[in-house]
Amino acid sequence: MSTENKTIPYKIYLEENEMPKTWYNLRADMKNKPAPLLNPATLQPMTAEELSAVFCDELVKQELDNDTRDYPIPQEIQDFYKMYRPSPLVRAYCLEKKLQTPAKIYYKFEGNNTSGSHKLNSAIAQAYYAKMQGLKGVTTETGAGQWGTALSMACSYFGLDCKVFMVKVSYEQKPFRREVMRTYGASVVPSPSDTTQVGRKILAEFPGTTGSLGCAISEAVETAVSNPGYRYVLGSVLNQVLLHQSVIGMESKIAMDKYGIVPDVIIGCAGGGSNLGGLIAPFMGEKLRGERDYQFIAVEPASCPSLTRGRFAYDFCDTGKVCPMAKMYTLGSGFIPSPNHAGGLRYHGMSSILSQLYDDGYMEARSVEQTSVFRAAEEFARVEGILPAPESSHAIRVAIDEALKCKETGEEKTILFGLTGTGYFDLVAYEKFHNGEMSDYIPSDEDLQKSFATLPKVIG
Ligand SMILES: *Cc1c(COP(=O)(O)O)cnc(C)c1O
Repeated sequence: MSTENKTIPYKIYLEENEMPKTWYNLRADMKNKPAPLLNPATLQPMTAEELSAVFCDELVKQELDNDTRDYPIPQEIQDFYKMYRPSPLVRAYCLEKKLQTPAKIYYKFEGNNTSGSHKLNSAIAQAYYAKMQGLKGVTTETGAGQWGTALSMACSYFGLDCKVFMVKVSYEQKPFRREVMRTYGASVVPSPSDTTQVGRKILAEFPGTTGSLGCAISEAVETAVSNPGYRYVLGSVLNQVLLHQSVIGMESKIAMDKYGIVPDVIIGCAGGGSNLGGLIAPFMGEKLRGERDYQFIAVEPASCPSLTRGRFAYDFCDTGKVCPMAKMYTLGSGFIPSPNHAGGLRYHGMSSILSQLYDDGYMEARSVEQTSVFRAAEEFARVEGILPAPESSHAIRVAIDEALKCKETGEEKTILFGLTGTGYFDLVAYEKFHNGEMSDYIPSDEDLQKSFATLPKVIG
């Protein structure tokens, strides 16, 4: 059937029988595989046995598997996905018109579920494997709260207990997210807390600290390994999470193929790298296999620039240094973004898969300042009707920039970007922006030198 003359609808959905039945493991097509996780005590690659003290068995298998290309999505997960997927692939006709660009802009919108983001795609998978293993529950950390919310939803679906360590500053500033999690039955503890050894140590060292993601991770891991029947789960960065998030890219590719659309540029925001890794996966696979070329752009905040200004090195994933070490683009685990940074994406490191692809030159990265991110968010909201999450708005910024470049050159590029979520819980940040109280903070080279000094001394 010819696809050429089909008019392209405002929103492209897939029929139930067109939905992906497998996740795509990008590592299978990478020549340079991502570096293995290391045991911080021995500096040897983590074995499956060591990892299974912390993570669910099936997830350990996925984490270590660089070879299996396609993973069948278990039927129960496919059934859960049907509640909120397919997510729409939207042709941003109104934004194009507003920008008067010849570019064609598409976005894949992942905000159509209560967690308000793509994180549910992996949360439900991780909860499923925990349930299959007969576990009682899982522990995790959350910063702004999207991951904690997604995991609470997934755990309540499978009847698992869910303990969430929430960065204290967010716990206090985002009471509504906390209540959503409690609605789904999760227990939410502000971190650092006195319920763990590492939390007590951090509190003694830094009294009055408002916490960090790295610290909450340490607390969640300690709680998982010291409670029988519990494992720790993580919402980004890990290979397994990118595998689950490939559903975003698979759906996008199927929808685009259906209408004969080929993107020239694919753009995503990058915190730990899960939505970007998922969105680009099948397209990057084609590029790695030499079948087709695409331009990929990772967008990060100028205040937390791990790809554009970080080092490619082994680093700790958490403040308490209880987790395995990962080789990634990193600012150093001691890096703490400026307190006036409101736009999310504040993790110090980046997925090992994306770090390797970036280092090998398959992907570009740009950093953007937060006031320009919020300007893009507002511009988008006014014409496309969706209030975007600040994180997602990093991708909007660069999508608009690329579309405006096309306006100058007259090129009719096709742009695809990931709209990862909605911003209803981020209105304090929007308020700052509207009141002109938002500033752009960019760490100096000296600041970065200080946090690079926290990198472990590892060869490789
Ligand atoms: C968590 C989150 C991100 C960033 O995480 P990645 O793992 O880099 O995808 C982006 N957008 C939203 C809405 C999020 O909740």
